[in-house]
Amino acid sequence: MKRKKRSLIAAALAAALLLSACGGTAEDTRTERIEMNSESLYVKKADLPKDFILGMDVSSVLAEERSGVVYRGFDGKEQDLFLTLAQCGINMIRVRVWNRPFDAQGRGYGGGNCDVAAAAEIGRRAAEHGMKLLVDFHYSDFWADPGKQFAPKDWTGMTIEEKTDAVYSFTRESLETIRAAGAEIGMVQLGNETNGALCGEKTWFNIQSLMAAGSKAVREVCPKALVAVHFANPENAESYASYASKLDYYSLDYDVFATSYYPYWHGTLDNLAAVLGDIAGRYGKKVMVMETSYAYTPEDTDFSGNTISGGSAVVKNYPYTVQGQANAVRDVIDTVASIGGIGVVYWEGAWIAVGTDSWEENHAKWERDGSGWASSFAAEYDPGDAGKYYGGSAVDNQAFFAPDGTPLESLKLFSLVRKGNEIPVVPDALEDAHVRCGLGTEIVLPDTVEAVMSDNGRRAVPVQWELDGALAGRMLREAGVYEVSGTADGQSVRCFVTTEELNFLPNGSFEDGTAAPWELIDRGGADELGVENKALNSRDGDCNLHFWGAKSGSIDFDAEQTLADLAPGTYRFEISIQGGDGGRTEIYAYVKIDGATAASAPLSITSFNNWDTAEIRDIALAEGQTLTVGIRVRAEGAGNGAWGMIDAAALNRQG
Ligand code: CA
Repeated sequence: MKRKKRSLIAAALAAALLLSACGGTAEDTRTERIEMNSESLYVKKADLPKDFILGMDVSSVLAEERSGVVYRGFDGKEQDLFLTLAQCGINMIRVRVWNRPFDAQGRGYGGGNCDVAAAAEIGRRAAEHGMKLLVDFHYSDFWADPGKQFAPKDWTGMTIEEKTDAVYSFTRESLETIRAAGAEIGMVQLGNETNGALCGEKTWFNIQSLMAAGSKAVREVCPKALVAVHFANPENAESYASYASKLDYYSLDYDVFATSYYPYWHGTLDNLAAVLGDIAGRYGKKVMVMETSYAYTPEDTDFSGNTISGGSAVVKNYPYTVQGQANAVRDVIDTVASIGGIGVVYWEGAWIAVGTDSWEENHAKWERDGSGWASSFAAEYDPGDAGKYYGGSAVDNQAFFAPDGTPLESLKLFSLVRKGNEIPVVPDALEDAHVRCGLGTEIVLPDTVEAVMSDNGRRAVPVQWELDGALAGRMLREAGVYEVSGTADGQSVRCFVTTEELNFLPNGSFEDGTAAPWELIDRGGADELGVENKALNSRDGDCNLHFWGAKSGSIDFDAEQTLADLAPGTYRFEISIQGGDGGRTEIYAYVKIDGATAASAPLSITSFNNWDTAEIRDIALAEGQTLTVGIRVRAEGAGNGAWGMIDAAALNRQG
């Protein structure tokens, strides 16, 4: 009853406004705003002008509803999506318009099958709840973005003059249709993410020619609406300066220079402010963020992969939580407002799962209703992308609605950001901990983990780990990465423990390029004894300890290191050698404890690339003892004299 009464009043208001249904600001005159409060969502106040645009793109909504998606209010009861958005402070609804997103049999390409009729219906429903419409012309039959700007099927083969006329007529007729349905058009985009291409055209002369035709049509049909251009990749500041300069050179008649800003890919907020601020100042244009979004969970909910998923608990500056989503968007809003920008539009905040338990059933709905990002029928138009990867929503985890259609607390952000809701901060998410330790040593887990607080600050909180002795033993025997779970502040948290074989011997592979701290004791007067930088001759890395002596008996040396500060425990030592022309030899690895020989292991040299490795295990070292490890090489020599290389020495803890 309540809903019906409300929509009757709204319909009457919409009818009264039909004649003047184009306006450039987003200040709301009609109603249905209710006081928003939250006991759990922290929102830092941002200073926003009253008419600051807080927009939401819901282009997929009609297709979603056809697929049976039910949107709800905060009480869990079914409620019109547009009413909920209006109540939460959204004042502008964005919709993409494709010319003819259908095949010859009338089967939709998907992505909401957003044609002019869909935009008109969405605009009408937005107006019913006091929200203006932002019309996003792609001038294409399907997705247009920096990767593709295909001309509509009906416009292929046109000259640039014919295409310019077509853009003018299409823009004019579309806006007239949308306005006649009751929509209040607040802004119109001339293309979507038009980074150097639009509608199949790739020269700026042609691009601006099409944009100018669109702009002329907007001015004639909706003189009060703002005209916007829209680009992506603000992290490339030079590209943005170039786009703005080109449009200025051609004197394009537009009001708003808009950008997409996805925090995962599009650079820092400081860069965003600098790039947009520069264009606003240099050319006297309004600026805004036309698309942004952030994940509230890493989980997929509709069996169709998402653009953002998985990974560690806290991936970027904000955790993938409801609070993290709100903080991420709040900071974009604050950044845009801080440079005098006019608004921020969230992209597809209601594109949730169509709700069955299997990919097959969802797929049937996506195909029938156009509620996935692309249907298989789009293959004829976009074979390389949609034709291969058609499927459901890639942003269901970035929506402001749970899979059952209930709004997330974060949706209240758009209302609360104007007045702030700076409640006491609490831990919102926990950062994964990471530690490394050597095999055979001891696993030391951190006493605290880092919590991301609800205001996005960081704080250390005490943690309790659950690590049983059997697992700990295995971790110290077998090198690998192990996950240990724990609890901190009532939430679960993970510690990734990397156990590895630590080499306690400095410069064990001579990769320093010099021998130190090895001590070379040359008794025989070798012609060559030193580090050689030659990967071909080395066991590992680039360097080895090379020796050669032409004279019989000149190869007679020890290479050793003495370590005084080793922790007590059991160790193993290994070292490798290759060489030849040794004649009679005496070669062995050895260890000494406190200067007294404790063990040795024989080695031999035979021929090039035939490495021999000695291993001495079970070296028991007590507190305060010094350990010497080394290799003794004595060769009488044959032929041109003994030669060889020593490499890959390691001293490890034995697990
Ligand atoms: Ca998905």
